[in-house]
Amino acid sequence: MRYISTRGQAPALNFEDVLLAGLASDGGLYVPENLPRFTVEEIASWAGLPYHELAFRVMRPFVAGSIDDADFKRILEETYGVFAHQAVAPLTQLGANEWVLELFQGPTLAFKDFALQLLGRLLDHVLAKRNERVVIMGATSGDTGSAAIEGCKACDNVDIFIMHPHNRVSEVQRRQMTTILGENIHNIAIEGNFDDCQEMVKASFADQGFLKGTRLVAVNSINWARIMAQIVYYFHAALQLGAPHRSVAFSVPTGNFGDIFAGYLARNMGLPINQLVVATNRNDILHRFMSGNRYDKDTLHASLSPSMDIMVSSNFERLLFDLHGRNGLAVSALMDEFKATGKLSVADDRWTEARRLFDSLAVDDEQTCATIAQVHAQTGYLLDPHTAIGVKAARDCRRSQALPMVVLGTAHPVKFPEAVEKAGIAAVPQLPPHLADLFQREERCTVLANDLKTVQDFVSQHGNRGKPL
Ligand SMILES: *Cc1c(COP(=O)(O)O)cnc(C)c1O
Repeated sequence: MRYISTRGQAPALNFEDVLLAGLASDGGLYVPENLPRFTVEEIASWAGLPYHELAFRVMRPFVAGSIDDADFKRILEETYGVFAHQAVAPLTQLGANEWVLELFQGPTLAFKDFALQLLGRLLDHVLAKRNERVVIMGATSGDTGSAAIEGCKACDNVDIFIMHPHNRVSEVQRRQMTTILGENIHNIAIEGNFDDCQEMVKASFADQGFLKGTRLVAVNSINWARIMAQIVYYFHAALQLGAPHRSVAFSVPTGNFGDIFAGYLARNMGLPINQLVVATNRNDILHRFMSGNRYDKDTLHASLSPSMDIMVSSNFERLLFDLHGRNGLAVSALMDEFKATGKLSVADDRWTEARRLFDSLAVDDEQTCATIAQVHAQTGYLLDPHTAIGVKAARDCRRSQALPMVVLGTAHPVKFPEAVEKAGIAAVPQLPPHLADLFQREERCTVLANDLKTVQDFVSQHGNRGKPL
């Protein structure tokens, strides 16, 4: 499989190089040159397969030419073997034809484990083959950092540096990062805010001299391998609910448009999905586009669903590419306009097409809490605030009561106790067994000043399994 840039000016790459690449050299994002398409018979034959075997069949075309079948099978079996639930991604019924797909059974209790557990193992495999080492630098306000660290802790060829704003992440989130001890794991608490952390990551990508030739890799949601891994659970859920002989709808709590874009790809690969609902919080740039053809940058609003607090949706460019007939120059012009003005809209026919593909809703904190309370009262089931936004959007936007509606359950409620409390629910969610002793575990973290040179010196002093690069 070859991958091309959404801006049309960068060289095409194979899977292995895309895995290590991050952004394309023209500023675009990589997408597959041709999407595989499965027949109804093929999809039907996958019913009942264990998760890792289904994952092999769905993702095999994407890694073809870079990763051998036997290696890929082994990597997938290991990856999805670490999930606490035997079904890996179990479906729980909420109401008539309404389901939650629990994507929070992994090590860090959020759906990002599905992609980052795989990404770490794929990186290590490819790097071992090339006899290379890399450094990962990332900034986190919570979920991504712990999932990335968990995904890389067993990697021989990767050192990972994750910056979080000192004293500004919840204790559960901090401990999920700082209690993972390994000579290649480096937690940095920056005396600044999340944007400061992110700026330092960006500056480090722009000027990599401090790395003395070691390659820097990104693990944020623009990495193609993360999107690829997320396609699988759409197939997994739909097959259990009667696909491919019956259509299924999905409602997806969205920030960077990564998770829902994976659903869009699953549909283009032959999975019968009759509806994809984009569910946002108050940071609703995607809903503004879907409902009014205005993709306009607004200020950031802190919400009870912090993992969806974004100003722009980095993967939206991948949809724009398809909406414009995969014309990279058209996308490039639009993104230039967006960079200059903070605004973007598309021609009417392209917007009509976007509205045919997606429905959308923005849900505020009050509605989020009301949904948590309502579902808890009706069923006893406790939603996390991100998933609650998905449930609310599913109920308001639903096109057919006769077809199953699946809400992607993106996090475990124990990670976001504030929303549960605000919903007026007395029962405190409990940590699952594999994290029960989280508050007793030893922590390791370095506090650094909000200063680029200080951070880069730290990385170059510790980037080779704790030793200097
Ligand atoms: C990251 C995250 C999201 C948003 O996912 P995108 O791929 O950015 O749309 C939603 N919910 C939770 C809990 C997350 O961690």
